[in-house]
Amino acid sequence: MSTTHDLLARLEAEHALSHRDWVGLIENRTPDDESHAAERARAVVRGVFGDAVYLRGIVEFTNVCKNDCLYCGLRRSNAGLRRYRLSDDVLLDCCRRGYELGFRTFVLQGGEDLRFDDERLVPVVAFLRERFPDCAITLSLGERSHESYQALFDAGANRYLLRHETASPAHYARLHPGDMSFEHRIRCLWDLKGIGYQVGAGMMVGSPFQTADDLAADMLFLHELQPQMVGMGPFVPHHATPFAGERAGTLADTLFLLSCVRLMLPGVLLPATTALGTIAPDGRERGILAGANVVMPSLTPQERRGDYLLYDNKICVSDDSAACIGCMRRRMESIGRRLVVGRGDAPGFGAGAGARERAAAACRRLEGGE
Ligand code: SAM
Ligand code: SF4
Repeated sequence: MSTTHDLLARLEAEHALSHRDWVGLIENRTPDDESHAAERARAVVRGVFGDAVYLRGIVEFTNVCKNDCLYCGLRRSNAGLRRYRLSDDVLLDCCRRGYELGFRTFVLQGGEDLRFDDERLVPVVAFLRERFPDCAITLSLGERSHESYQALFDAGANRYLLRHETASPAHYARLHPGDMSFEHRIRCLWDLKGIGYQVGAGMMVGSPFQTADDLAADMLFLHELQPQMVGMGPFVPHHATPFAGERAGTLADTLFLLSCVRLMLPGVLLPATTALGTIAPDGRERGILAGANVVMPSLTPQERRGDYLLYDNKICVSDDSAACIGCMRRRMESIGRRLVVGRGDAPGFGAGAGARERAAAACRRLEGGE
């Protein structure tokens, strides 16, 4: 039988493991294996990206959601949440301010808010594309139709983050109500890939009922999908959800899985998430040292941040954007890394790739010129 050291060496060399080997690695690894995995992941990320850490500015533009995911503080059943939607002007202002601060990727994230249909969103994306031609536009709006994803892509969006949450249908059914479909979520990811987005999938580490078997399935799914980004942070409970009393995912598990993802997908864009910074004061720095290479400070207006609470004790809710970027720069420099200004596309994807032409065509269509 292979030792965990052998499995890590094989993962680094072949970028793949069998389901059985993933389970063995996840269940049997020791603290020494965790350090070794982080060391190898650091070497790999340095080989591909040097000492750069990419910066993305996240604008949380609505906390209204039609869904009722059991783990999330934005779920529709949470009647205690003060709901908000940013107006187009405020949203654009967040991006303008972000641009001045050096951000060149804007991540527009929100609950699945029916008010933001294509008629409302396509012009916003097209305007951002025209106004900030040197920036990447990332969307994280949940599940939509193929037609909608296509329209947003045509308007100039480049990337889409849609965590698959879990690759096990049985586990999915324990995290979501019966009106949500595992098959649909997975289909959305393949649709996004087919359209030409840089795609991000991922899962929470330590979500309720998660087993090593489920995590192995996640790793196999990520290998199959070959996403350009992986969003993976610890599950953190929220007091007004059915999982209020559950334990949070651990730092050790999250760091180890970040290292494994780096070894499996060497060129992937991998954030050290805010959730990781929430469970440990130096969580994001440790995430970077375990193989992550992206940080995502918030550009959401200060007065709204406290209402975008997916989980309890979320950090940075009272800081302003300028303070956040300064703090992040210092944190990265303290571990010998460099926060870079720039789009930071996945290897093989660039600013060209027809985005400006697509946006111009989308604008013409909106103006009725075609
Ligand atoms: N509504 C969109 C969606 O679900 O894809 C985008 C926003 S949603 C808040 C973004 C991510 O937050 C989810 O994919 C989920 O993994 C994560 N999340 C939600 N609740 C969380 C919790 N309690 N702890 C950690 N992450 C959580
Ligand atoms: Fe809505 Fe996303 Fe939260 Fe689910 S995870 S309740 S879809 S915001």
